[in-house]
This record gives sequence, structure tokens and C-alpha cells, in this order.
Amino acid sequence: MKNQRKLKLIQSYKQVVDQVKKYELELNKKIRIVLVSKYQSVEDIQHLYDEGALHFGENYVQELIFKSQKLPSDIKWHFIGNLQKNKCNEIIKKTKNLHTIETLDSLLKAVKLETCKRTIEGKKIKIFLQINVSNEITKSGFKYDNEEDIQKTIEFLLSEECKFLKLKGLMTIGSLNNSLNNNSLNEDFHILSELKKKMDKKYGVDLELSMGMSNDFLSAIKQGSTNVRIGSLIFGARTEP
Ligand SMILES: *Cc1c(COP(=O)(O)O)cnc(C)c1O
Repeated sequence: MKNQRKLKLIQSYKQVVDQVKKYELELNKKIRIVLVSKYQSVEDIQHLYDEGALHFGENYVQELIFKSQKLPSDIKWHFIGNLQKNKCNEIIKKTKNLHTIETLDSLLKAVKLETCKRTIEGKKIKIFLQINVSNEITKSGFKYDNEEDIQKTIEFLLSEECKFLKLKGLMTIGSLNNSLNNNSLNEDFHILSELKKKMDKKYGVDLELSMGMSNDFLSAIKQGSTNVRIGSLIFGARTEP
């Protein structure tokens, strides 16, 4: 049974890798696959790591810290959950090899993370600004049309003052409706890539786009994604504890 689980995981992982590789060749660019491992076991993550997977994404701070301390230290951990103000310290101090925070949603938190990171060793932490492209109040992130706050945060991340965080890109969670309605352009991904173009031009940068999950990663890649976050397609349906 255990062995079957492992074989299944590896097979689904390789299928995703093959699909993404095809687009990398076609579009001539690198696309990162982040394996979303929330609620998944340390053993399963280890199996995929043994197959060469290095980027894993977690949603909950305690779970991230626990797994990062148990698993190989060269795993590049992405935090993709709701970032709470009072967890900024802990996530920086206790996560082993925290690579990327994909869900920054305020200038205040950027300042907090920067201040805290100053006190510990290690590489810069990569940052994506989470953008709420649908303006659903249930979703976190900067409202996509709140350019003032987005710009202030980008300006802080690019400033001399900010030494330990590195601006990497923009991230969004597409609405389920737009992802199931996959006849043509996904409106959510379109909004995010338009915002990227605008910010690239204004700041002379080349922001990455983190968009696309199990349901919609191929259309996200077609619309410019460079970082896809894939959970259930590889691990199977999640059972919440
Ligand atoms: C859970 C989660 C994913 C993965 O979703 P799947 O549909 O299982 O691929 C991706 N991104 C975020 C932000 C998530 O919370």
C-alpha cells in the first residue's frame, strides 16, 4: 500500500513536470512548479523531494515550521497562506530555509518582515504581492485597483532601506468560476498580467507571475505565469484534519 502511494505520487508529479516542460520549450522560459503540500505528510513530501522536487508551498505557519525542521534543509519553502501580522516574526525566525512569501498584502507587513529578517542569517526572502483581482471581500490581498498601496509597497521593497526582502512578483488566486469557465481568456489572469506590465514599465523591473493551480495551471501559463502552485493534482484530494 505504502509503495503504491509512492508510485502514484511520483507518476502524477512526472506528468505535471512533462506538461510544464512542454510549455517551457515552447515559450522559451522557466516555469517553477511549487508543490502545495498543506495537510500532506512529511513522508509524501520526502518521496517527491527524492524525485527532484525542491519547491514546496504551505498555508499554515505552524505546519510550515514543523515540516521545514523535519525535512531536508535544501527544500525551498514557499508560504502561500494568509499572512497574519502577529506571525511575521515567527515565520521568519523558525522556518528553516524560508525561500518565498507569496502572500504579502500590506506595506506594514513588509516592514515587519524586513525588520525581523535583519536579526537572523540567511539569504534574502523573495516576495510576491498578493493581488485580489476579483475584489471579493472574502479574499485577501491588495485590491487590484488600489495602485497607491501596491506602488508604495513595491517602492519600499525596491528601496535601499529594504535589504533582506527581494521583490519577485505578483500573485493571485483566480476565482473558481473563471477557472472552470475555460473557453478562452481567464479574466483574473488577464488583470494580473496587465498590472505586471504597468509595474514593469513604471519601475524598470520584470515581475514574475504566480498564478494557476491544479484546475487552471495550463491556462495560467499561457497567460504568462512563471510560478504555478499545484496541490491536489499531484497529492490527490486533501483531507482536512
Ligand atoms: C491550496 C492552494 C493551492 C493548491 O490548490 P490545488 O487546487 O490543490 O492545486 C494553490 N494556491 C494556494 C494559495 C492554495 O491555498
